[in-house]
Amino acid sequence: MRARRQMLQEIQREVEITQRWIGKGALDERVMEAIKAVPRYEFVPDELRPYAYDNGPLAIGHGQTISQPYIVALMTDLLGPTPNDIILEVGTGSGYQAAVLSKLVKKVYTIEVVEELAQQAAARLQRLGYTNFEARVGDGYFGWPEQAPFDGIIVTAAAPSIPAPLIEQLKVGARLVLPLGVVFNQELMVIEKKENNEIDTRSVLRVSFVPLTGEHQEHSP
Ligand code: SAM
Repeated sequence: MRARRQMLQEIQREVEITQRWIGKGALDERVMEAIKAVPRYEFVPDELRPYAYDNGPLAIGHGQTISQPYIVALMTDLLGPTPNDIILEVGTGSGYQAAVLSKLVKKVYTIEVVEELAQQAAARLQRLGYTNFEARVGDGYFGWPEQAPFDGIIVTAAAPSIPAPLIEQLKVGARLVLPLGVVFNQELMVIEKKENNEIDTRSVLRVSFVPLTGEHQEHSP
């Protein structure tokens, strides 16, 4: 209980320092409520449950991680979710970010490239009573064209360049939040779609995410 309270205070403090740094207003209370409402210990392997409320990433198997709670709160806030939104998440991982989003929006579509993680996350979300999500296995670089356009897209693995299909699948005025760059040199970006597929980009801070993998790499230069 104490660890959880401490984690929540840390998130609030760290996100607000970052927001001040980038000139954004206070952390959206709805985002903080969603973070409070999602039991993070349910999303980590049994042996790591004692650390579930540390404000850090944790291993979830297959060389992947559940992101640091502060980063989840920050990315969710930067996305600016509203209750009627349809959101796409790339990188389901444990399902934690999808659970947080599902508290805030109408529907979450989430894609995971590692089949076992995708299946485990979908089963976990169902068991915990989340109903407004759809999960599938695949390379999220290509988005989910059948369900586009989206009111927002969040990518939780680092892409070396902005995936064009994700820009195409955003509504005009909507945001893509993603870590951009290569290992040890990534920036968290907020990209807003303008008319004619044009974009506005803003760098928020340096981050460290696992890389975006998948079949799209075979077609990249
Ligand atoms: N959002 C996750 C959570 O809440 O637990 C954390 C995700 S972890 C930092 C990044 C995830 O992205 C990993 O599970 C990884 O397998 C997945 N991933 C990497 N490349 C991907 C791709 N091309 N498409 C979909 N998922 C991908």
